Amino acid sequence: MSEQRAFKTEVQKLLDLVIHSLYSNKEIFLRELISNASDAIDRIRFQSLTNADLLEGDSDWKIKLTADKDAKTLTVSDNGIGMSEAELENNLGTIASSGTKKFLEELAKNKENMPPELIGQFGVGFYSAFMVGSEVTVITRQAGGQAFKWTSKGDGFYTIEPATREKRGTDVIVKLTEDNEEFLNEWKIRKTVERFSNYVEFPITMDIRREEPVLDKDGKRVEGAEPKVTITEETLNSQKAIWQKSKSEVTQDEYNEFYRHISHDFVEPLETIHWNVEGQTEFRALIFIPAKPIFDMFVPEMKDKGVQLYVRRVFITDKCDELVPSYLRFLRGVVDSSDLPLNVSREILQQNRTIRIIQKNLVKKVLDTLAEMKSKDVDKYLKFWDAFGPTLKEGLHMDFENKDRLVELLMFDSTATADSRKTSLEEYVSRMPEAQKEIYYLNAEDRAAAEKSPVLEAFKAKGYEVLFSVDAIDDWVMNDVPEYKGKSFRCISKGDVDLDSEDEKKAKEESRKQAEADNKDLLETIKELLKDKVADVKLSHRLTESACCLVGGEYSMGDQMAKIMKAMGQEVPDAKKILEVNPDHPLVAVMRKLRAQDAKSPKLEQFVKMLYGQAQLMAQIPLDDPLEFSKIVSNLLVADGENSIQ
Ligand code: ADP
Repeated sequence: MSEQRAFKTEVQKLLDLVIHSLYSNKEIFLRELISNASDAIDRIRFQSLTNADLLEGDSDWKIKLTADKDAKTLTVSDNGIGMSEAELENNLGTIASSGTKKFLEELAKNKENMPPELIGQFGVGFYSAFMVGSEVTVITRQAGGQAFKWTSKGDGFYTIEPATREKRGTDVIVKLTEDNEEFLNEWKIRKTVERFSNYVEFPITMDIRREEPVLDKDGKRVEGAEPKVTITEETLNSQKAIWQKSKSEVTQDEYNEFYRHISHDFVEPLETIHWNVEGQTEFRALIFIPAKPIFDMFVPEMKDKGVQLYVRRVFITDKCDELVPSYLRFLRGVVDSSDLPLNVSREILQQNRTIRIIQKNLVKKVLDTLAEMKSKDVDKYLKFWDAFGPTLKEGLHMDFENKDRLVELLMFDSTATADSRKTSLEEYVSRMPEAQKEIYYLNAEDRAAAEKSPVLEAFKAKGYEVLFSVDAIDDWVMNDVPEYKGKSFRCISKGDVDLDSEDEKKAKEESRKQAEADNKDLLETIKELLKDKVADVKLSHRLTESACCLVGGEYSMGDQMAKIMKAMGQEVPDAKKILEVNPDHPLVAVMRKLRAQDAKSPKLEQFVKMLYGQAQLMAQIPLDDPLEFSKIVSNLLVADGENSIQ
């Protein structure tokens, strides 16, 4: 006799919520049923170690899926531990796990704002079967026990009655609703298993039916003949959770194949890191550093997906921000923890101590690997740096704990490196002449622009190396790293730069004073003519060859940073630059003469405009009025030409 029993109220609530909120992720029901089956096998396997009788001669572990197209049922069967009547009642009539309870509370609080893809990351267990089924039946038998059948339509009641089942184990039979009949489809089942349960340790099998036409001896189809039907039991999951194996058991080819599978990247990974951690927190991780940023044209949503989180081989999520900090978002791979519950919620992930410990360990491992790569195989490291350097640098702004490690990983183009080479800060400092007190860098659009900058002249003359900071993010980086090994950083296109030592300054004192006096009138005239364009006009101590240059004020925002801010729609104060003039340049000498003859000379005005235009061009700043500039240059050249002909 079957007896109608009512669900505990919270179960009914959960059922309703699950069905309505998770609907867009309904295929996870299969993941849940398969993982219950896998747990049940785990348990019998464990218990049989001390009591072999429990096996009843059946230790061919397997989870079998059966789609019955006539009955419209999908059945998940296992030869696991099975349930007694009391267990059926307790496990399926109440909410067993606290994780489920938590999920229920969260969902009730947040029903409207919880995006479905997040909800899909919760483990919701057995009840998710009601998302796709109008009725669920469980037939189960324990070793040596009697079989029972549990049935419910998810309407608040269930029945339990004695049943028959030949062998130990459990069948969960889901009667699919009309709009979920796709789960009878072999292809759909295959895809769902591959996505969520591919690495479950036990084979997940299905009988595959194939029809082959009858052919005559010439290979032609025999008209009217019934096709030959073959049924073969196939395993749908790969089972090979290669991260569960030890390193020595896996070849690089196998790693690469797995990387291709999870990343959709057709290029081999630059580095493979495989390790496991035992002790208070236990997890295994297989992390790949791609060779290049992955952009999957055909699966654009892949680009937001990072390291996948598994709990005991069952896929949980590939969007766990807490697992990998965003500056390592280029990593791909798997972390498998045995310390997290399967029905771990998004909220639990955010606060979970285990996740935090895993993250810390993962970051350290990756940064150590990069440091080793840099010291042992710099060419390989430069490949990494070219691909992900700017992303890694973001860590300096975010990860205080690993700042020192990250600083050691920085690489720069510099005046001392060949075109495709770069220098680390350690190497830079080791090359610094004794007289050099600071680490110099120049902010520029790219290396070619930096190399031509007139502000480098004095540094070249002194033999001081200058780093080129060419990534848009470098302005931030330099602010976040005020010094390295006790040497502060200095941007050479900002503020006053005077490389002369105290002795040199003293020796030059007279001549500098003289230059100030000789050029005073000229500077004033230039200042007056350019008063709307520049903040100040000064004699330069950093130019040796060029006539002039534009520099920023000591505390001004870097050009790159200003560009980013503008691109982000931020208001950026249009900070005027300072025009520095080289008093030893012949052009300036000519201007001095013109000024001495006539303070209001129209020709002098043309010279000033040309000087300013040159400074803009050298600083890669667009000219205010290119037409006027080219006219002035032509006029001056014509005058010069006529003079030389006469
Ligand atoms: P959870 O798996 O998170 O505990 P579920 O709602 O999925 O929650 O399942 C409740 C309980 O029912 C499980 O903990 C387990 O004891 C039992 N159970 C479910 N499926 C099976 C199965 N196939 N074989 C044996 N026991 C099962």
